[in-house]
Amino acid sequence: MGFWDKFSTDIGIDLGTCNTLIYERGKGIVINEPSVIAVERGNKEVVAVGAEAKRMLYKTPGNIIAIRPLADGVIADMDGTEKMIRYFISKIKKKRQLIKSMRMKIGVPTCITEVEKRAVLEAAAKAGAKQADVIAESLAAAIGAGIPIHEPAGHMVCDIGGGTTEVSVISLGGMVVTSAIRIGGDEFDEAIIKHVRNIHSIEIGQETAERIKIEIGNVAPDKENGKIGIRGRDAVTGLPHEIVIDSVEVTEALKDPITQIIDEIKRTLGKTPPELAADIFERGIVMTGGGSLLKGLPTLVRQETGVPVILVEQPLECVAVGAGLAFDLFKDMSSDRSIYDNL
Ligand code: ADP
Ligand code: MG
Repeated sequence: MGFWDKFSTDIGIDLGTCNTLIYERGKGIVINEPSVIAVERGNKEVVAVGAEAKRMLYKTPGNIIAIRPLADGVIADMDGTEKMIRYFISKIKKKRQLIKSMRMKIGVPTCITEVEKRAVLEAAAKAGAKQADVIAESLAAAIGAGIPIHEPAGHMVCDIGGGTTEVSVISLGGMVVTSAIRIGGDEFDEAIIKHVRNIHSIEIGQETAERIKIEIGNVAPDKENGKIGIRGRDAVTGLPHEIVIDSVEVTEALKDPITQIIDEIKRTLGKTPPELAADIFERGIVMTGGGSLLKGLPTLVRQETGVPVILVEQPLECVAVGAGLAFDLFKDMSSDRSIYDNL
């Protein structure tokens, strides 16, 4: 560590719809918290951020609201986003009191507008960034996954987050083809809620649906069948009721959003120039993001596309890691702007 390193640092931020992660250069992941903020209803004063605020989601009394400011992949709530970034940065600074200057690279969805991009950069500046830039999430994910992005060879990255799924083809350090849909892990939860309501006449919350998905969800045809007991409110009597559901049912419930994701991958493969497509058939589709942890999903993608699939080792972390490592890959802070040429 050089002398000046005590006073300045570089961080990569993954501002996800579900989770915010920060990777500090030379240190690793220093922040890993849900993208949730709880504020007082009237004066918008921050009550809690991150994990603490997530526990309040859907359970707040009238005077407090807990929100996910980035739900759906866009900045739904600019003020909340800014406060959240500021809180996480201050948490890092508190531990490292000597830090005077910070450069930030922020992973953003490819589908973000110019206005939203500027809003993110403004939030970073207000949070104390000396220099801030955005990097396309797919590119950051590829870097974090260890893909040699500067090679003249095609690589496909499929990132399934909470609010969006982004599929991109990368070659020579830029994005050749990219597409994003507003379907992700949140829609998986929604689909489970709908299924349980329609088939069992029981109302369950998002948290329960997510637990079902993570514990027994399995979309591979040769699935192992798990069972789980769940409690909800009977839609008819209004009273608590308990039922048991299994993986087969969950697979059925998830059919629609899963099909949309697979169709998007196929569509992107279809738009890929032949030479790069040949590379992808050889190297495989790299899957990242929390949604790709759904059991059997990589297998299903392989079966449906005929292309090998690689699930990265740390699907939840690679965007933050990649954004942090990008400082070394793109020497000039703004050199990776060309990635937006395709938008
Ligand atoms: P974002 O980048 O939008 O913040 P993440 O990459 O953090 O999203 O992924 C969050 C999503 O991943 C959530 O919908 C969550 O339920 C889902 N998820 C996390 N772990 C698992 C798992 N083991 N199985 C299935 N889904 C998972
Ligand atoms: Mg993400």
